[in-house]
Amino acid sequence: MFKKLSVGSELESYCGRCKMVLNHRVVAMVDDQPRRVRCLTCNSEHNHRVAKAKTTTKRSSSSSSSRRASSSSAAQSSAAARWSALVSTWNDETAKPYNMYETFKVEDRITHVSFGKGVVTEIPGPDKIITLFESGEKMLMQGKTRL
Ligand SMILES: [Zn+2]
Repeated sequence: MFKKLSVGSELESYCGRCKMVLNHRVVAMVDDQPRRVRCLTCNSEHNHRVAKAKTTTKRSSSSSSSRRASSSSAAQSSAAARWSALVSTWNDETAKPYNMYETFKVEDRITHVSFGKGVVTEIPGPDKIITLFESGEKMLMQGKTRL
């Protein structure tokens, strides 16, 4: 039943950077337990944390739509609804590829290598944007100075 994990296995772990439970790849094991994992979404490496939310119970093997990280489903589905409303007016020509050296404004359409299409919904600070992606809202950096 329980799949034995090893270095290179994928598992769900809480990513402190993405602030949600996402698929990670095991990079180090201690006593048959995953110790260090790398987030497949943001590529950051951190200690494995078991998700507090009960998301890792049953997953019907038939459905391949495991993209949705099912945390608080109500908030998630309304975010998904907002996202589909926003991208219904999507235009590739006005979408900007995201990178942290750019600055964005509310309503900007951006494309992100991991999260896909998104719309900037809030600018909480001069170096931060909140963007609504299909998988939910994410805080991203902006206006960084190239070193
Ligand atoms: Zn992450």
